Amino acid sequence: MFYHEKREGFARAGKIEIDGRTIATPAMLEVKEIPEWDFGLAPTSLKFLNEELYERLKPQNEEVEVLTSLHLLSPKQLVQTFEETGKKPVYAASSALPSNVSLLVYLGADLVDNVLAIAKAYSGVFLMGEIEVQVEKLQRFPCNCIHCQGKPVDEVDNLYETVARHNTEMLRMEVEKCRRLILEEELRNYVESKVKLNPELTSALRFSDVLRDHSVFPRFKKSRCNFSATESFNRFEVKYFFNRALECYQPFSDAVLLLPCTARKPYLTSRTHRFLRSKVKINVNEIIISSPLVVPRELELLYPAVNYDTPVTGYWSDEEISFVSKWLKRFIEKGGFSKVIAHVTGGYRKVVERIENEIEAEVVYTANDNILSDESIECLKREIEGYERVDLYRRIIDHMLSYQFGISWNGEVKGRYPDLELFEGRKRLARVDRIYGMLDIYEDIAACLLEKNIYTVEIGDFDVKGTIFAGGVVKADENIRPNDLVVFHNSSIFGVGISAMSGREMAESERGVAVRVKRKFSL
Ligand SMILES: [Zn+2]
Repeated sequence: MFYHEKREGFARAGKIEIDGRTIATPAMLEVKEIPEWDFGLAPTSLKFLNEELYERLKPQNEEVEVLTSLHLLSPKQLVQTFEETGKKPVYAASSALPSNVSLLVYLGADLVDNVLAIAKAYSGVFLMGEIEVQVEKLQRFPCNCIHCQGKPVDEVDNLYETVARHNTEMLRMEVEKCRRLILEEELRNYVESKVKLNPELTSALRFSDVLRDHSVFPRFKKSRCNFSATESFNRFEVKYFFNRALECYQPFSDAVLLLPCTARKPYLTSRTHRFLRSKVKINVNEIIISSPLVVPRELELLYPAVNYDTPVTGYWSDEEISFVSKWLKRFIEKGGFSKVIAHVTGGYRKVVERIENEIEAEVVYTANDNILSDESIECLKREIEGYERVDLYRRIIDHMLSYQFGISWNGEVKGRYPDLELFEGRKRLARVDRIYGMLDIYEDIAACLLEKNIYTVEIGDFDVKGTIFAGGVVKADENIRPNDLVVFHNSSIFGVGISAMSGREMAESERGVAVRVKRKFSL
């Protein structure tokens, strides 16, 4: 009954069949559309008071998991409730308002209803988006929807019914937004801003980041990461990037150059980094300091380093300095560098100063107020002259292969940065996919992954077109996350595609999109 289209963390877009109608999810059901599901005899909150009683009184439905009145739960209970949901579509009944619905969807709600929006109306509350206004304080409806039409409030006959209809439309719009945001992989950016209106919602997001299993979260995404909130530091993609980058980082020189980030990504295409490289031959390791990221040059084409934005004011909070310096320290330790050349100023310099005495390497600062001034550049030159030339593009591709697949490959790197490609003779092996911040691969590397049995999806013996559905999947690598590049295969063909769900979901689901096919080859 549920048809999966796309995952965005815990949230998903899909289609659900209700009483013969197909509805795109996440969706808001109007009260009159709610099928005869069992709502149980107790709200979900009873679970936290008396679990045994709740088990007896809770809703029992084959097709859908009904949770009720979630707005009554504490932030931690809310997160625990979603963590314990199973494979069935989740219906958060009598729980949603425009202020909290994006969080409910983020946590995993597929369906909500307009019960609370109606209840608000009958208690005299007119919803202006997430803002609640007492209707008696209004002279005219500040809205031109089909129900309000900007009418003077005292001229409306059935006032509460009109407000209920209007409130419903406000909620519907918010749910529709969530669906668009899931398809564009942008939901997290939105939720981070939305929860700021209410400390309880903010707490729930923080609990979710810490308490939940994130195995359905993607490693690579096409959307830009907006690191605008403190919660941005706790995102799955930030943690994953740091941990994986540390595992894969293979420095080559005994010195490391620290540089500030740039607004333009990848950093190497920025005017500042290009100018520096035109003046100074940089043949040592480079690490770029940003907030919250710390990015070795070799990893700058990977998500989220390749596509993020962060507010730049020149002022760094103490929290930012300690977060960033902690990770910088770990990269410096991993490199075992004996010399750190910090070509940074302002807050970036404070990050280095914070750990200066904690690392074994000698730290040299080479920039005065302006990292591009003649004086700063002369000073930098003196510190990093005499190193042998290295092939940076080759190192970038090597690190991407290692980060993404844990493999290495010879071959020749061609192309104009950042559109690098790996060739063997005239045969293309891989190319940088800048949209997702990963490598796209071709026949030879796909065959290698198939042999190693990593990122593989075994499918039935049918003709493969644009999409592979979960029903056609026989077996899938459990390590697969949504948006991973995967290798599908059956007895006659194999090929490369992008996963739309996790490996476990592919194997367990009967319906929905599993893999979007990019290219196929005969065995
Ligand atoms: Zn209206």
